[in-house]
Amino acid sequence: MSARILVVDDVPANVKLLEARLSAEYFDVMTASNGTEALALARRAECDIILLDVMMPDMDGFEVCRRLKTDPATHHIPVVMVTALDSPADRNRGLEAGADDFLTKPVSDVVLIARVRSLTRLKMMTDELRMRAITSLEIGMQAPERSAVSDTGKGGRILLVDDRESSYERLATILAAEHTIDVEPNPTEALFHAAEGNYDLLIVSLDLNNFDGLRLCSQARSLERTRHVPILAIADPENSTRLLRGLEIGVNDYLLRPIDKTELLARARTQIRRRRYTDHLRDNVQNSIEMAITDALTGLHNRRYMESHLATLAEQASTRGKPLALMILDIDYFKSINDNYGHDAGDDVLREFAVRVRKSIRGIDLACRYGGEEFVIVMPETDLHVAGMVAERLRRSIAGEPFAVHKGTKRIEVTISIGLTTLEQKGEAVGDVLKRADTALYRAKHDGRNRVVSHAA
Ligand code: GH3
Ligand code: MG
Ligand code: MG
Repeated sequence: MSARILVVDDVPANVKLLEARLSAEYFDVMTASNGTEALALARRAECDIILLDVMMPDMDGFEVCRRLKTDPATHHIPVVMVTALDSPADRNRGLEAGADDFLTKPVSDVVLIARVRSLTRLKMMTDELRMRAITSLEIGMQAPERSAVSDTGKGGRILLVDDRESSYERLATILAAEHTIDVEPNPTEALFHAAEGNYDLLIVSLDLNNFDGLRLCSQARSLERTRHVPILAIADPENSTRLLRGLEIGVNDYLLRPIDKTELLARARTQIRRRRYTDHLRDNVQNSIEMAITDALTGLHNRRYMESHLATLAEQASTRGKPLALMILDIDYFKSINDNYGHDAGDDVLREFAVRVRKSIRGIDLACRYGGEEFVIVMPETDLHVAGMVAERLRRSIAGEPFAVHKGTKRIEVTISIGLTTLEQKGEAVGDVLKRADTALYRAKHDGRNRVVSHAA
């Protein structure tokens, strides 16, 4: 995991220092001496993390950060502001500009490397999701970046785990100004609470009485329901070494007590914004997976999915000694429907056909659009006799009720022919099963259409 870090500073000695430390930890380092150069490098997607000096002539670090975070091409790159200034006001200016983190000069080696490592992990995960989500962009889904750059990070759901009343009351009051907040003073209940609550952020105190807050963080990381919920740790300054340990096990960010109000709000917003962005990416990935296996016109599975899944179903049937039926359905004289009523009417028929198919089969049956007006239905645990009845019922459900086309202004008679067969012996190639069903279908067409023909092997 060799991340590329862009170090931006107008003072060459500062650049050299950070470069040496990062290189010693095997990070790839590139450098820029001003904001314009940094923006250009970032836009060419040549770095994973940016360490950004605040005080620079021309364009200062706040402005560079703001531009990075409002550009959809660069907004996902974590930015760490490196500054000699350490008043809460300065930190907050950076956080308002969208910075992901802050390091104060002189930068401690341990803190530098811990932060860079934790942001690297985050960046790698986001990159992976972004890469997979690209497909969904290609098929016209909305880019998550567009909503991400305009997300305020407000209106989140937060769970605060803290057992000191004076502390949680103050924090909850601050956070309630922008979010919905639940407090869990009992750390042994916290994990359960977190898993149930669909939170956007967990804030965990590491100064709990008789309880290791880091254990809670690590459990939250391994539990499916909370794995992707960001964690913001809070600790007394004397617990700061444990914070570094926290970053290693997946805590996303931390704050030291006494907690500055504005900084707490800014860090919470940053985590929530990031959480929504990655959720959005994840949804896109999920949608593109669904789209990749679904036929867009009918909503049935597509041929590719059927072919890969049929092999699995056949194998299961063989090993369990259960029958498996397969039918190919083909709409009769479909070409003349297109010719007489238009292509749109043809599409209406295909859609309505799919609706009727879905109504006639069970949940475990697999229906797919095999080609233009050809469909395949696979029925696990079904023998030829039962499948024959299902096919006949299907045939009737098509022929028995005319299809509405042109927004219901016209109704046309449609019939189908069905070729039916079953998996015959253990390990029979699915291609052979399909071929047999196709032969049966051919017979059905040849014998006059609007009929079911079974073909036992
Ligand atoms: P047969 O009874 O022998 O099956 O005759 P047919 O006309 O149904 O069969 P043929 O294979 O000659 O024609 C199928 C037609 O289906 C040709 C093609 O233009 C049309 N088609 C394929 N996909 C679509 C589609 O998505 N929408 C529409 N409207 N038509 C389609
Ligand atoms: Mg046809
Ligand atoms: Mg055909």
